[in-house]
This record gives sequence, structure tokens and C-alpha cells, in this order.
Amino acid sequence: MRPPREEGLEAPQRQPLAWQMPEFYDQDALHSEMARVFDICASCRRCVNLCNAFPTLFDLIDASEAMDVDGVTTDDYEKVVDQCYLCDLCHVTKCPYVAPHSWAVDFPQLMLRAKAVHFKQHGASRRDKWLTATDEVGRLAGIPIIAQTINGITQTPSLRKQMEKHLGIAQEAWLPPFDDQTLRKRLKTRPLMGGDRIESTSRTHGKVAVFATCYGNQHEPRIVQDLVAILDHNHIPWTLTETERCCGMPKLELGDLQSVVEAKEFNIPILSRLVDEGWDLLAVVPSCVLLFKQQLPSMFPNDSAVAKVSQAFFDPFEYLSLRHREAKLKLDFTRALGKIVYHVSCHQRVQFNGVKARELLSLIPNTELEVVERCSGHNGTYAVKVENYSHAVKIAQPVVNVIKAAMPDHYGSDCPLAGHHLAGILDDSTVPRHPLTLLRMAYGIF
Ligand code: SF4
Ligand code: SF4
Repeated sequence: MRPPREEGLEAPQRQPLAWQMPEFYDQDALHSEMARVFDICASCRRCVNLCNAFPTLFDLIDASEAMDVDGVTTDDYEKVVDQCYLCDLCHVTKCPYVAPHSWAVDFPQLMLRAKAVHFKQHGASRRDKWLTATDEVGRLAGIPIIAQTINGITQTPSLRKQMEKHLGIAQEAWLPPFDDQTLRKRLKTRPLMGGDRIESTSRTHGKVAVFATCYGNQHEPRIVQDLVAILDHNHIPWTLTETERCCGMPKLELGDLQSVVEAKEFNIPILSRLVDEGWDLLAVVPSCVLLFKQQLPSMFPNDSAVAKVSQAFFDPFEYLSLRHREAKLKLDFTRALGKIVYHVSCHQRVQFNGVKARELLSLIPNTELEVVERCSGHNGTYAVKVENYSHAVKIAQPVVNVIKAAMPDHYGSDCPLAGHHLAGILDDSTVPRHPLTLLRMAYGIF
């Protein structure tokens, strides 16, 4: 018989999110589970420097009369929940008490449950609904005159002050401008390239369907264009999904699970059909990749189409790295990039792919990489909310310090929003560059 082992030494096993069980929404059951987990965290405190959720919790505990979780009111639990942006880092990188440990701590899933209960009971504020309505707002902003008007408003300091006062959107926070030349408009007439040269590898089929993402379509189409230029250069046929809706990640972060279900019901049949036709799936925003790779399977563990899409979804650098391993990536770089500070976004880190952008950018001659694996503080809509902006800056500061000290030729993050948030704090008129943009630059393909 196998001797007993100390708990916490087995590989973590994440449980599916029990969002369809009535008990999931039972407030008393939720509070009792929060008290249990908060009590474990209070004695552990390993996560104190990851985000503002843990300092908020520990301050509440330390300020209570009994200096333990019993002294914290359930109303105050909400303050902890509001500071969690579901990055998953505490669960994935720190916690020794995750299942199969008998304590089965899953802090992010518990916070998500609390957000879902709150949303069911109270809905969301006008601001939060607006910030997460990326499809609806994007449709309006795709109209040239409206896009220019919105961009004008969001770039005018006096109007940003009014937005802060009346909408609760931090005046200093970076807001993505709308591009009236959306990705779909830009790529409308482009044919597939290299369609007769599909070369598979052991893990990739060798033809790619790109999920544009609302960010890639409406705000920074250039990054998706960089990706497809790299695919073209490597003779990897690609296409865009015929249509898409926001993946649902912003709504998930709000606890609005019904909207996540609706987005899933729209996107999954389209993506599943593409997988059946032999396409691999890529997206340029790590949060969207994570949603398809991990969050939807956690919500729909028995849905075979969700599982199929999850298996076929890749982070772009993971994909290119898998091709490189089997000598199917061109290394004909024509331009050295000098020194790069590369920030690995949290939603990329928790995909368990390793730091593939570092692996590939390091192949570029005369290019030196400094990698920062710390939270940028942007986190979906967290940093743009007035009540969070100062926390978001504080969380970002160690990353900003690395960039300042390195004085790099380029800096950037897998998460485009994180890159812009860091640039906003640097405030030195430098611009971040997405690692895909850097790879394209090194290839010299414009
Ligand atoms: S999931 Fe991320 S934001 Fe939430 S508590 Fe854990 S580390 Fe903090
Ligand atoms: S989530 Fe885990 S590691 Fe982090 S403070 Fe709580 S018990 Fe400790």
C-alpha cells in the first residue's frame, strides 16, 4: 500500500464551476464558504502582494476587534470581492491548499461565485454595463463620425473630468480609441495566402482561423494584421471567423454568467465548425484565449463542442513555438530589436504554456530580452474604474520600475491593454509594442 503523503504535494485538480446548482446562489452557503476560505488565507497570507484583494481582506481582519475573520462583517466581504479581477494567479502560482488538498481552496472561483450572486441580486451599475458592452458600443463606434466623436471625448481632459464625476471612469486611465477602419473592413478583400501549402505538425494542423476579438477588431486591428503577416510569411493559411461576438470575459468578470452563456451559444457553433474543417484557432488577446481554453470548459464540463474548441485554441506564440519545434518556422530575421522588456500577462501565465514569446523573440539576433512576470494592474475593466485606479497604478509600479531601469528600445505585453496602462504610468511619450508587432518588425515584413 502506498504510504500516506503530506497534503498539497499532488498535482492541483480544479473543480468545474457549479454555477447551475441552486446552492451556488445561496447567500448563506456562500458566506459560510467565504468565512472558511478567508480564515485559511488569514493564517497563510502568501498572496499578500499579488493584488489588492488580499491586503483588503487582511486589513479588515487586522482592524476587527477579535483580529480574525469572525470579526469581519459579511457586508465587508464585498470589499474583497470588488478587488478581485479573476486573474487566477493566486490559485495557479501560490496556493498550497488547492484540491486535492482536503481544504480545497479555490479563491478565484469563490470570488466569481460571489460576483455572480451579487449580479443576480443587484445587477450592475450603468458604468459597468457600459464598460462590458463591447459589442454594442463597438457597433456604434464603428461608424466613422461616431468613432471620432467618442475618441475626441475620451482624449479631452476637461471631458474626462466630467466622465470621472458622472460615470466613475478614472480621468487618468487609458481608454482604447476606436478605429473606424475596423479589422473586418481592413481585411475584407484579402485572399487566403499559401492555401496549397498546408503543413501540419504533431500538434498543429497548419491552417489558422483567427478570432478577431472585439479589441482586435475595433481598437487595435494592427496587432491582428501583424499576426496574419507573420502567418503569411510562414506560409500558414489563415482566415477570419465569419463573425464573432465578444468572447464573454468582461461579462464573466462582472458575474453576469447569463451573458457568458449567450456569447458561448453564439461563438462556439462557429468555432466548432471551423475545428471540424481542420482549422486551428488563435486570438491576440490572452484573456479571450483563456476564456475559450479554460473558463468555458469549467462552466460547461460536459459540452463536447466547448471541449473541442478549447483543445484547438492556441496562444499565438504557443502556436508559433509548436511549429518552431518541428522546424516549421522561418528564422530569416532581417532586423535586430535591441533591448526589449517583455511583460507576461497574467491571463497568459495561467495558460501553462511557458513563456513562448521569450523563446521566439530570443531567436532574433542582437536582441536582448528582460522578462517581467508581475501583474500590470490593468485587468480588464479594473484600472479604468475611479475607485480602483490608484490600486492599479500601485500594482503596476514594480513592472514600470523594471522598464524605467532597463531603458529598453521596446517594451510591451501580450495583453495590449496592459501595455497601454504601463505606458500611461510611464508618461514619457513612449508607446508599447505587442510582441507580435516586434516579431513582425524583426522579419522586416511591412
Ligand atoms: S484571482 Fe487574481 S485578483 Fe483575484 S484574488 Fe487571486 S490574485 Fe487577486
Ligand atoms: S489563496 Fe491560498 S496561498 Fe493565497 S493566501 Fe489564501 S490560502 Fe494562502
